[in-house]
Amino acid sequence: MQISSALKQKFKEAKSVCVLTGAGISAESGIPTFRGGGESVVWKGMPFEQISSARMVKEDLDAVWEWFDYRRGLYKDCLPNPAHTVLAEWQERFEDFTLVTQNVDGLHERAGSENVIELHGNINHAKCENCETIYKMDAEDVPHQPTLCKNCQTKLHPNVVLFGEMLPVGSFEKATLKAANCDIFLIIGTSALVYPAAGLTEIAKSNGAYLIEVNPEETPLSDYCDESLRGKAGEILPQLGYYL
Ligand code: NAD
Ligand code: ZN
Repeated sequence: MQISSALKQKFKEAKSVCVLTGAGISAESGIPTFRGGGESVVWKGMPFEQISSARMVKEDLDAVWEWFDYRRGLYKDCLPNPAHTVLAEWQERFEDFTLVTQNVDGLHERAGSENVIELHGNINHAKCENCETIYKMDAEDVPHQPTLCKNCQTKLHPNVVLFGEMLPVGSFEKATLKAANCDIFLIIGTSALVYPAAGLTEIAKSNGAYLIEVNPEETPLSDYCDESLRGKAGEILPQLGYYL
């Protein structure tokens, strides 16, 4: 994949960069995307949408935790790849840098990225629905610990946005503001079909950002982007990093 000189120039001049990542950025770390199949589609005969739903939390929180602990067990040996590492470095390189992710795997955090806007939560965090305290769990803590809120003794929930739930308060608004004010908006490893995250690209474009997609496949966004870099995130991102 040849990086054009026009793109190198864009990166040199950019002051504000906003990046949206999806499941594809973690594929090279061994975490399957949904469309790529893998463990996450059906579990114990239940479709993903059923076990990962707000309704299931009400009906059988223990089963929901069993499913999330199972996934955390699968993720714990998956390490950040060069794409996560380059993005962690970029927070020092641009005057204004924002990382927004749809992923719940916590790999950006493990690579050293700070202040990541995790639109769908983080599988290694638990939250108290009552007093809203967030507990960071160790990736090794399978099954999850703690199980009860230390402040109010309420049973903790996974801090992941489930089907039938709203996005965490403020996270989308913050991402929107950054998308609307960036020079470059980079979309990595997402088919961009899931709203409202997909709407961020429209906001960025309509406010004049240069849109770049990194994906080995064509997506519904490809024609909309100013540039599509066809390839794996773990191979393309280090090349972009090199030119800064
Ligand atoms: P998706 O599964 O619909 O699409 C993944 C995209 O990644 C595809 O367009 C695919 O072509 C691309 N891709 C595959 N390998 C890649 C690579 N090496 N480099 C770059 N791109 C690559 O995923 P989505 O639209 O991101 O996710 C839908 C929802 O599923 C999201 O809400 C996300 O939170 C959730 N999800 C998260 C994880 C995770 O946390 N790692 C994993 C699976 C799904
Ligand atoms: Zn509490």
